[in-house]
Amino acid sequence: MLFTTNWLEEFLTPMSTNYSHGDIQEVNTDSRKKTEKALFVPLVGENFDGHDYIEQAVENGAIATIWDKSKPFPNNLDTSIVVYMVEDTLQALQKIAARYRDKINPTVIGITGSNGKTTTKDLVASIMKTSFQTHFTNGNYNNHIGLPLTILSMKPETEVLVLEMGMSQAGEIDTLTRLAKPDYAIITNIGESHIEYLGSREGIAKAKLEIENGLKQQGLLFLDGDEPLLSSKHGDAKVVTCGFQRNNEHIITSTGVHHNKTVFDLDGYSYAIPLPGKHHAKNASLAILVSRQLGISNENIQNGLQNLKMTNMRFQLLEGKQQVSIINDAYNASATSMKAAIEVVKQMEGFEKKILVLGDILELGDFTEELHRSVGGVIESPINMVYTYGENAHWITAELESNKKGISTKHFTTKEELVEALQSHLDKNTLILFKASRGLKFETMVEAIS
Ligand code: ATP
Ligand code: MG
Repeated sequence: MLFTTNWLEEFLTPMSTNYSHGDIQEVNTDSRKKTEKALFVPLVGENFDGHDYIEQAVENGAIATIWDKSKPFPNNLDTSIVVYMVEDTLQALQKIAARYRDKINPTVIGITGSNGKTTTKDLVASIMKTSFQTHFTNGNYNNHIGLPLTILSMKPETEVLVLEMGMSQAGEIDTLTRLAKPDYAIITNIGESHIEYLGSREGIAKAKLEIENGLKQQGLLFLDGDEPLLSSKHGDAKVVTCGFQRNNEHIITSTGVHHNKTVFDLDGYSYAIPLPGKHHAKNASLAILVSRQLGISNENIQNGLQNLKMTNMRFQLLEGKQQVSIINDAYNASATSMKAAIEVVKQMEGFEKKILVLGDILELGDFTEELHRSVGGVIESPINMVYTYGENAHWITAELESNKKGISTKHFTTKEELVEALQSHLDKNTLILFKASRGLKFETMVEAIS
């Protein structure tokens, strides 16, 4: 049980008091979902209005619902369900979540950043699970709806709550952090995602730093200290910095990237994580520093990291036709994450030929050409070949061609032709990276050579 209707009545008024009080087992916004004793929260979206589906929600197990005052409640409905009238159902969902967070009062860890939120959340959760009853964001439930639903799905015995906080515009992290009230906050990095709405990297940093606004007074803010926009611009919060540069309080050293893991040292201890890439050493270091604050032993930290179960293996290593090695990173892309992925491919040992198959990075607005070109700018030996596809990705090849780095490049206008061109390179000494924004559906090309 999550809570009783009696508890809800501390801050919501039921339409009628003539009903039998009940225990709420879950909070649900999807009327199609089979539930047991749910509180149904009808949300109003662009295409659907949850209020139209109350009957279905009741059939599927709702015993209570909140309801927008401005909408008529259907009078032919089974009236034994409890109805709470509110001004705005989304705000009510957030309010219930904030109250529930305070009622359970776990240690809350909030994670934001342009890239690496989900990875860091999974790393933190994996360590926390060694020592505490831990609840954490499922998938990408990291926005104004997903975050309250995450809070409302935690069991009452939860000791540690790990929350991913996503954003696309200024003010969004402010809402999430005031709701979640983290004891510890992490900002993984500042990139260029959503620069279209925020104007500049400074604007992005400012928006991420909103996480301070809800941080508990004695709370700590853990930052990527290699990013000047973070290490110099924060407000009053107590800050812990970590990174590769000497200016950091905690410095990551001796990093080694292998095809299936990354090893590194932090403060004299060695760690290994089952993810390839230097940037993941930083994500893991932030997770380690938070875990030390909760008194978790170094042995448990090392075990937690090694037993990582990723929400969504973004950087997926596959074996394709003729034993070619494929990295499927087609889930999504920003300029920062594309450069990071290219960096990992450069770092990986044991291949004779390295090919990049890159596509458009979407939502860059006026920065589209500049940022695609900036990706082209970081491509160098030991990368041998770059194939691009998409409306904007040709800027990547254009930049490379103007640099004359001796890397063979080609832009394609169909995926079929690109896949065809890859055929003669499929062998066990070749590594191919696929990366583009979600909308480009690069997984179809991965499938074609797998
Ligand atoms: P989303 O905004 O989609 O929720 P996210 O912030 O949760 O993204 P992840 O899913 O953890 O990020 O990682 C996405 C990509 O970002 C990965 O493919 C990885 O290559 C890259 N990445 C992860 N961590 C970092 C980092 N610290 N710095 C730069 N790039 C990173
Ligand atoms: Mg994520």
